[in-house]
Amino acid sequence: MDFTLPQQIDDYRQRYRAFVAERLLPLEQDPDAYDDHENIRLDVLERLRAEARAAGLWAPQMPRERGGQGLPVVGMAACYEEMNYSIFGPVTFNCAAPDDGNMIALNKIGTEEQKARWLQPIVDGKVRSSIVMTEPAPGAGSDPAMMLTTAERKGDKWIVRGRKWFITGAGVAQHFLLIAKTSGDKRKGLTAFLFDRDQPGWRIVRRIPVMGPEEHGGHCEMEFDGLEIPDENRLMNVGDGLKVTQIRLGTARLTHCMRWLGLARRSMDIAAEYVSQREALGSKLAGRESVQWLLGEAAMQIEIGRLLVMRAAARLDRGEFARKEISMAKIAVADVLHKAVDTAIQLNGARGYSKDTILEWIYRYARQARLVDGASEVHRMVLARFYMDERNDYWSWN
Ligand SMILES: Cc1cc2nc3c(=O)[nH]c(=O)nc-3n(C[C@H](O)[C@H](O)[C@H](O)COP(=O)(O)OP(=O)(O)OC[C@H]3O[C@@H](n4cnc5c(N)ncnc54)[C@H](O)[C@@H]3O)c2cc1C
Repeated sequence: MDFTLPQQIDDYRQRYRAFVAERLLPLEQDPDAYDDHENIRLDVLERLRAEARAAGLWAPQMPRERGGQGLPVVGMAACYEEMNYSIFGPVTFNCAAPDDGNMIALNKIGTEEQKARWLQPIVDGKVRSSIVMTEPAPGAGSDPAMMLTTAERKGDKWIVRGRKWFITGAGVAQHFLLIAKTSGDKRKGLTAFLFDRDQPGWRIVRRIPVMGPEEHGGHCEMEFDGLEIPDENRLMNVGDGLKVTQIRLGTARLTHCMRWLGLARRSMDIAAEYVSQREALGSKLAGRESVQWLLGEAAMQIEIGRLLVMRAAARLDRGEFARKEISMAKIAVADVLHKAVDTAIQLNGARGYSKDTILEWIYRYARQARLVDGASEVHRMVLARFYMDERNDYWSWN
């Protein structure tokens, strides 16, 4: 068993680290670089995206023939962590949710025509995209089988009616990946479709105000009142919606974890810097055992999260679904992010609670980690099912 990174991946990792340090961290200090929703301003982003492209760091998760870097999932794990050392990192390199997960899914399951029409413009950074699944109660949330939004077949078209919410990026997205109910079948009742912002028959009801900083385009509630989707814009077969969801969410859950580990490491560094300088009662804070316990515990938790993520990544690279490994990583890393940023705020004292550092930004952002792409409780339920099924074989090596 060898835990070292291949040289080519480590080179990429170091180049992401250098770009983040030189180009993104200074920008975080500039209030003018932010939009009204605490994200990077779009015109500033465009400039940085051009620089990322020129540096050969654009879209590491996409194949080279589409303009990406063709990294395996293990390579993504190493690089995404470095990127999200800055809050502006993932979106600069075209690795932010939900575009990241949408691209990975379309690249896996789209037909060549669909890839050219729907995927390539996202890879090129010309359009943004959304995944449209969750509904307000009593519709689909943790349980996709409760879906109420319907797509009814009329000749070679599908007519969509219903309501969705918390659709990240919908305010700016041009391409949408929609899951809708096409029959009452419990396993084969959902189907996936693609539609364009310019098609009539839907509207954004509101941009939902949230506690954290927002992705571009916010988290929106959407209403569908007769959106017509040609059958050629159906993804996979009729009834494969659940399968599309699982393919879409599998890697996307893990890339969330990769990014969150970067935020966790950044939080720790801000704490380390402060406790190395700050004195109380005659000694540096870093010299106090109780402070060391906090730092040591959080550092260890981050490493546990990294190992879980790498193991799941290696399994995905071998063509496995890695459902169990991804669920474990998702639960653990969501908690690691909370642990790291909470520790960092505590160790920074009042400064940690202020807006003088980005800790409070990360703290508010972190709260979604236990909810998005499956609440932690649901992932624990999945693990319990695996365990009850596999018992002592749950802990296998192969
Ligand atoms: C910031 C943010 C961005 C999002 N972006 C998107 C997006 O782009 N597209 C999209 O489609 N959705 C998106 N979502 C929705 C997200 O995927 C759902 O919130 C999530 O799947 C949970 O669904 P729900 O909110 O309906 O919770 P519910 O299903 O109502 O569950 C509520 C709570 O009940 C508990 N629970 C539920 N089921 C179980 C169970 N089986 N066992 C034990 N406990 C359980 C959990 O604690 C859960 O948090 C986003 C959400 C947030 C907060």
